[in-house]
Amino acid sequence: MCEICRSEKLANQAHLSRRGLLRFFGAASAGLALVGTAGATEAKKPPKPQNVVSPEASLERLMSGNKRYVGGDSRRHDFKREREALVGGQNPYAGILSCADSRIAPEYAFDSGRGDLFVCRVAGNFANDDTIASMEYAVAILATPLIMVLGHDACGAIDATIKSLKDNSTLPGHLPSLVASLTPAVKAVSGSPGDPLGNAIRQNVIDNVAKLKAATPILSAAVEQRKLKVVGGIYRLKDGRVEMIS
Ligand SMILES: [Zn+2]
Repeated sequence: MCEICRSEKLANQAHLSRRGLLRFFGAASAGLALVGTAGATEAKKPPKPQNVVSPEASLERLMSGNKRYVGGDSRRHDFKREREALVGGQNPYAGILSCADSRIAPEYAFDSGRGDLFVCRVAGNFANDDTIASMEYAVAILATPLIMVLGHDACGAIDATIKSLKDNSTLPGHLPSLVASLTPAVKAVSGSPGDPLGNAIRQNVIDNVAKLKAATPILSAAVEQRKLKVVGGIYRLKDGRVEMIS
């Protein structure tokens, strides 16, 4: 298949998928920001016009927010006014897939308000079908232009996976499900020089960036059309700095 046919096919798939999502979630409740992607009748003024940005500008904004947070210069957020503006919908400027670890808090780490970040959190910040579906909603319905997979230092979920594999032990409850999701990254770097935990944390971010980029048909098409960027970062616990790794 030539490049043009391939692009058209991807665009059609993405459009059909978006219509399916609209049917599922309901256009009225979604607070649509379908800028340039759907019929004029579906378009609605985004509640936060400042969030309608390119993938590159979104990343810049995240990193400026992180700089303020690291320096202790976070802005005062007017929650009352934000609440009122967001009654009718949302148009977050970035999606974050982060660990559930209580020390991370993406809205703080990027000094962002409500309605700014579409956050999916799970211990070990990996993408499964549910998180991919959530990000598909953010990208196709809310027109979110950027997704960041955010790992962090000393991740307990990844550490537990390393120990479980090393000891050949089975963790209690539902934890084996987490271990299964994090095992590919741990195995990929086993035997590499350096700190096994740090290496696995980094590899897990890299793997999940790749997984989200390749998730067909919605996210992959948005990446192909340059409407979406997927990047990876690691949150440093000591100073709150987010270090970009991809
Ligand atoms: Zn963690």
